[in-house]
Amino acid sequence: TQPLLKESDDEAKATDYHADASKVDKAKSPKYQAGRTCANCGLYTPDGDKPSGGCALFYGKDVLAKAWCNAWVKPG
Ligand code: SF4
Repeated sequence: TQPLLKESDDEAKATDYHADASKVDKAKSPKYQAGRTCANCGLYTPDGDKPSGGCALFYGKDVLAKAWCNAWVKPG
């Protein structure tokens, strides 16, 4: 468990991180596609049953499972 990434953090702004994927405005975030969240991103590592987990992009910070950023990748 690490501190949560905040939308106001520089690295979050750089990737258009939104703490709640369901609130992403597609007009402002054209890369967003419905249904994509950290929970189903290939860079996410769940932390047990917690609502947040690790992201390979953000060293030292956790992200919310229900969040999204424009670096989302298909799990593989
Ligand atoms: Fe979430 Fe994936 Fe973006 Fe990391 S890269 S913040 S897990 S969508």
